[in-house]
Amino acid sequence: MTEINIHGMLTNYDKKNLTIATVCSHSSLQIFNGARKEGFKTLGIAVGEKRKYYDAFPLGKPDEFLIVKNYKEILKHTDELQEKNAIVIPHGSFVEYLGAENFLKLDLPTFGNRNVLMWESNRDKERIWLEGAGLTMPREIKDPHDIDKPVIVKYHGAKGGKGFFIAKTYDEFKRRLEKGKPFVIQEFVLGTRYYLHYFYSPIQDNAYKLSKGSLQLLSMDRRDETTIDEVQRLGSIAELEELGIHPTFVVTGNIPIVMRESLLPKVFKMGEAVVEKSLKLFDGIIGSFCLETVVTEDLEFKVFEISARIVAGTNPYSFGSPYSEFIQPDLSTGRRIAQEIKYAAKKNQLDKILT
Ligand code: ATP
Repeated sequence: MTEINIHGMLTNYDKKNLTIATVCSHSSLQIFNGARKEGFKTLGIAVGEKRKYYDAFPLGKPDEFLIVKNYKEILKHTDELQEKNAIVIPHGSFVEYLGAENFLKLDLPTFGNRNVLMWESNRDKERIWLEGAGLTMPREIKDPHDIDKPVIVKYHGAKGGKGFFIAKTYDEFKRRLEKGKPFVIQEFVLGTRYYLHYFYSPIQDNAYKLSKGSLQLLSMDRRDETTIDEVQRLGSIAELEELGIHPTFVVTGNIPIVMRESLLPKVFKMGEAVVEKSLKLFDGIIGSFCLETVVTEDLEFKVFEISARIVAGTNPYSFGSPYSEFIQPDLSTGRRIAQEIKYAAKKNQLDKILT
């Protein structure tokens, strides 16, 4: 549990004069734009200098910047941010740049449940959560000698797929492994990837109903990963591997996508199970989350990861998606977050969505 007293802090906040703050990266254009559409003031935290490119995007630019020398310095500016009634929207880069430990002690109201961090960042706990919810995850291979099909080797703490590699045999695994780095081996799931963007509200009942609150599906994307997604332009992967050229998984962008409509009931069932299990394990995930999945040719979902906050895959949809259009026109995830905060502020329930 976080030890800081967010509840106490919120009683001193002027709820009619809130500021939405986030770090200038990742999905910040969308977050600022969404907050602006819902009538909030916005503040961008940037390192070194004001991010000049925001001038080119006036509707995605924050009203003001807080310039810090490095991300850790944010911790020294929390009084100033509290005076502005700031609510922080964490995104993947925010947590990574600040560091998980610092993020947990950040003395500011933060959208979502911070306690989810230890469940998503620890691969064993993540498996307990997701498999406990009845989801199928890629099989883990404990002993590398058992590699008899393609596997993906993932180093702990590697971000954005950096350093991951595919091996098809034990020998290949041994050759490619970097010594001294902890790793897991997973079956490489064959199929098509879908990254599903959900929004769970513990305080509103106007969507797919759960035991408490309700769930929405706002959009989905597929990540563009270099070099695995394009390497075939040069030759077959087997051919290239002969030359010592191995595919990599570093994310460079996101591609919008929809899936066959008949799969949507499964998508909601998975989202529901993940939320219900989280309510039992740690008071529940709150707000945006993403299930990273592969759909096999038998139309089964295998979930290889969960991200428990807004993901950059929502960026193709700053003006809404083919799914959010059926909820409300022009609804991005950034805007949906702002709406949730606005609703909670009005109903005096901010403590239910901020930690
Ligand atoms: P992030 O934290 O940014 O989500 P990560 O570093 O934890 O990324 P993963 O998302 O687990 O990495 O994996 C990176 C990429 O590797 C995925 O986007 C996907 O393309 C591929 N991948 C991961 N696991 C599997 C799997 N079991 N089978 C097939 N492909 C996989």
